[in-house]
Amino acid sequence: IQERIVMEHSEMEGALRDMARQIVRDLDDPERLVLVGIHTGGVYLAQRLGQILEREHDLKVPIGTLDINLYRDDWSRLHTQPVVRSTRLPFSVDDKDVVLVDDVLFTGRTIRAALDALMDYGRPRRVRVAALVDRGHRELPICAHFVGLELETLPDEQVNVYLKEKDGSDRVVLECR
Ligand code: 5GP
Ligand code: MG
Repeated sequence: IQERIVMEHSEMEGALRDMARQIVRDLDDPERLVLVGIHTGGVYLAQRLGQILEREHDLKVPIGTLDINLYRDDWSRLHTQPVVRSTRLPFSVDDKDVVLVDDVLFTGRTIRAALDALMDYGRPRRVRVAALVDRGHRELPICAHFVGLELETLPDEQVNVYLKEKDGSDRVVLECR
């Protein structure tokens, strides 16, 4: 196994500030914007995006979370169905512009499950996806509007996202085979 560092701390900060700028450019009603972080990584990234939006764009954005069980310990087993475990949305999603935040976008199945869960809670005005890394290989018609890094990968490779909140430092590493 070979490892290639594709993002260090400063690049991750830059990528997140970029994504925040993309979100702001896409806004037409700041009052409607909410962020929903997925799983562990996406929750931390949603919080960071929230901090940047507040600090650099003067936007205070509500943040919710979705916990999705992937039912997989091996990223190469693609054809399993992600299931939503728990949801914490301390606001109504009706008529909101929801940005789902995840660390890595791959087949799109997690976002599909997240959309399903979201729709059970109400009727958002629109939903976007923000992903720190888009590693390609989609199996569903799902895309990210806001992307930190588009990374070319092989299906059986793995992208390891280390975040200071849970791992002590920021780094994205591609594990090549
Ligand atoms: P998808 O459902 O699009 O196949 O995969 C997206 C979800 O699985 C995200 O929650 C993401 O965190 C995780 N995931 C998929 N591929 C990778 C990967 O290569 N590395 C990491 N760290 N997570 C991945
Ligand atoms: Mg995840």
